Amino acid sequence: MLRLASMGTSAITLETGHSTDAVAAGEDWRTLLAQAIRDPVELCRRLGLPEELAAEAARSTTAFRVLVPQPYLARIRPGDPNDPLLAQVLPRKAEMANAPQFVHDPLHEAGIVRTPGLLGKYKGRLLIVASGACAVHCRFCFRRHFPYVQTLSGRTWHGVFKQIAAETSIEEVILSGGDPLTTHDCRLAEIAQQLSEIPHLRRLRIHTRLPIVIPQRVNDELLAWLRGTRLATFVVVHCNHPAEIDADVAAAFGRLVDAGVPVLNQAVLMRGINDDAEVLTELFGRLVDLRVMPYYLHQLDRVAGAAHFVVPEERGRELIFQLRARLPGYAVPRYVRDTPGAEHKVVLE
Ligand SMILES: *Cc1c(COP(=O)(O)O)cnc(C)c1O
Ligand code: SF4
Repeated sequence: MLRLASMGTSAITLETGHSTDAVAAGEDWRTLLAQAIRDPVELCRRLGLPEELAAEAARSTTAFRVLVPQPYLARIRPGDPNDPLLAQVLPRKAEMANAPQFVHDPLHEAGIVRTPGLLGKYKGRLLIVASGACAVHCRFCFRRHFPYVQTLSGRTWHGVFKQIAAETSIEEVILSGGDPLTTHDCRLAEIAQQLSEIPHLRRLRIHTRLPIVIPQRVNDELLAWLRGTRLATFVVVHCNHPAEIDADVAAAFGRLVDAGVPVLNQAVLMRGINDDAEVLTELFGRLVDLRVMPYYLHQLDRVAGAAHFVVPEERGRELIFQLRARLPGYAVPRYVRDTPGAEHKVVLE
């Protein structure tokens, strides 16, 4: 039976990370998120970058504003305008260029809404927009124009659970966003509990970039609810470059895997960031060393503002071919593309 009363419709506010709860200073993930840099000029100043770059970033910042937390900032090389981590977070004027094939809703997600906050695209799986907030704003994000405010103001958890319960062919729920792990663990534990009471559900998957950008997020409370449900839980992290993995990120992966949670990685193939056999070899080798399985290498979704990151599919195939010669088979991800209307990813190899 579903117990919905305790999670009434008030559980719908945007999680901003600006919690008023008392939090321990320093390492608490909520503090790190609240203190994240939100101003492109400040970002450039902290990295010792030229003023022209700061001015360009300020001019190119859209409604999808800058967001970079300190633990991620610390991995960006100061003074290097071409740093591959910086390129993922700093607005450049190329974002404003007109590219007709790059659109606001590249995967036609407006057409797959089951009930507000619940998307049904893939067979047997439903995706919950659990939060509209992220811990970093990735310039290439395919949901950078997603109508979060509208979606979340229309969402009721009661409606979401009721819909999932009504679709008996659904075996797996994916918590997505935004980043679902910007939500506090007490609420996530409650969501996991409610889902576990739906008899036909077998698996719960969490798609998140938080273990990469604020590895302190992988705390005991998170591990407790991930392990404490009857559902098989999987975490899919989004790591695009080996320089994103420092000792704290490695430790965060270790905590998840040691807790018995399989961790998979999705990377997005991007020009000037990771479209290089050396970089990808290092990335996937490092991930498997940390027992994180390279799952997908994604062709960039054609979202407005990200056209300058696109790598031709031909080049992607060539890179995969090169990786096969350099890495064990299990370390080579599938090279895929998402297609509007398709019930699964299209493999590009
Ligand atoms: C592809 C994808 C999924 C689910 O597809 P699988 O092929 O089952 O992994 C869910 N969320 C995001 C963001 C995806 O890109
Ligand atoms: S963390 Fe994920 S959802 Fe958030 S901006 Fe980055 S890619 Fe998009």
